[in-house]
Amino acid sequence: MWVGVKRPGLTTRLAICSGEAKNNAYCIILLSYHLHPIESKVPLKSTDKATLHHVVIVGGGAGGLELATKLGDSLGRKGKAIITLVDQSKTHVWKPLLHEIAAGSMNPERHELVYLAQAHWHHFHFRLGKMDSLDRDKKTISISPYFDEDGFEVIPRRTIHYDTLIIAVGSTTNDFGIKGASEFSIALDTQDQAERFHRRLHNALVRAQTQTQTLQAGQLEVAIVGAGATGVELAAELHNTTRELAAYGLDKINADRDIKISLVEASDRVLPALPVKLSHSVELELSKLNVHLYSGERVTEVSQDGIHTHSGKFIPSALVVWAAGIKAPDFLREIGGLETNHINQLVVHRSLQTTRDSNVFAFGDCAACPRAEGVGQENVPPRAQAAHQQASMLVKTVKSRVAGKKNLPVYAYVDYGSLVNLGKYTTVGNLMGSLSGGSLFIEGLIARLMYKSLYKMHLMALHGFWSMALQTLARMINRRTEAHVKLH
Ligand SMILES: Cc1cc2nc3c(=O)[nH]c(=O)nc-3n(C[C@H](O)[C@H](O)[C@H](O)COP(=O)(O)OP(=O)(O)OC[C@H]3O[C@@H](n4cnc5c(N)ncnc54)[C@H](O)[C@@H]3O)c2cc1C
Repeated sequence: MWVGVKRPGLTTRLAICSGEAKNNAYCIILLSYHLHPIESKVPLKSTDKATLHHVVIVGGGAGGLELATKLGDSLGRKGKAIITLVDQSKTHVWKPLLHEIAAGSMNPERHELVYLAQAHWHHFHFRLGKMDSLDRDKKTISISPYFDEDGFEVIPRRTIHYDTLIIAVGSTTNDFGIKGASEFSIALDTQDQAERFHRRLHNALVRAQTQTQTLQAGQLEVAIVGAGATGVELAAELHNTTRELAAYGLDKINADRDIKISLVEASDRVLPALPVKLSHSVELELSKLNVHLYSGERVTEVSQDGIHTHSGKFIPSALVVWAAGIKAPDFLREIGGLETNHINQLVVHRSLQTTRDSNVFAFGDCAACPRAEGVGQENVPPRAQAAHQQASMLVKTVKSRVAGKKNLPVYAYVDYGSLVNLGKYTTVGNLMGSLSGGSLFIEGLIARLMYKSLYKMHLMALHGFWSMALQTLARMINRRTEAHVKLH
């Protein structure tokens, strides 16, 4: 957790003594100085508020938070526009970390960022709540009431006016309406879901340790539906963390004998969207980890005890994770009369403006954006690297709009390749682009460093280079003195 302290002329940040780290003898304090003086934050007069261009960004995820931060640091800081970020959560965790949180190899407290603090440091406003409707004539969005965990209303329904609206609400898992999927499986769309899965996994292990009767079929079996990058990475992380967890005093559990991890995939190979060579390499690694692969098996039903497939197989499993397919959140379907596709994504031009309203933009997973001119009907894939690139472009777009310019930049997706991280075991991937002369297969340390660099780029966009570097150093030191798996 970061704590902001004001000093004349400088914004100073103290890190990292929070949560478990408070008890850690090696908890260190870092200072990172921000070069912009705090006095330069221009206080808004009430007349400014009425005349300034108001940019509202909905969704503070991989793309939205980077955009709000950069616009706050530029337009917000200079008092040239009002930037407001709306998110349904109080804190941000980068979504590609969720499978590590679910497996227990990452402690979310160390990686979550408080929106209010980020807004304070980067000159934008933060509004907590869930957008649920849009009035394009009045240029307002509506945010549903916010309730606490006891059901008491904390914030009533409210509307926010915009001049430019940017929707970046991401995606949710698509269970395609399969019977029992929403009831008996867990998706990994939010930090809450990832933590819930981890608690269930931990409880299953503790129950197995303390029970007097023999283990039942499927009791310590995790079945993951979907062998895309998320499913494959989760399987490898789980292999590692279940063994680490068992080593912490769960002596009645023999991990190799008792814990089973299965991957169920409808197509005939893992990572169907990636090159065949990558699939083969990953399949080989997974077989070494004894992960059971059921390829060519379409799930027809999920029940309390396991998974049924179209070929009549039943895979017993007490824990089912659904990681197959995505869709944009349901509330977006034809919201405010905007064009949406069959998975609720807002259809946008390559300027990222929605097709029916040039004042409303969408990007990231929730947008259907043509990949590039002449690439047929293909859309930009739902990836963190796309959200990151689009956020960078939208900074220029918004500056142009605020300056009254008509010509806006257009987005072309640059595919730098795909990397799949099998936890501590290995990382494999293919690099794309002119440097590698097309597609280059990589694995091992280089692939791992490149995989990690995507998250570092996100941190750099949010905090700047030095804060990112110091955070990385602090985590490396902390890791030497603590368990590598979350033990509760
Ligand atoms: C387990 C996992 C691993 C992944 N690994 C990778 C990877 O290795 N590489 C890669 O490129 N991609 C990866 N992805 C995909 C990547 O996470 C997404 O493509 C990326 O996060 C999309 O960014 P976004 O800004 O569009 O949405 P998100 O990052 O999902 O952010 C959406 C935000 O909108 C908020 N929100 C949602 N609805 C509302 C509402 N109604 N009102 C207000 N706020 C709302 C949410 O709280 C959230 O903060 C992974 C995804 C998962 C689930």
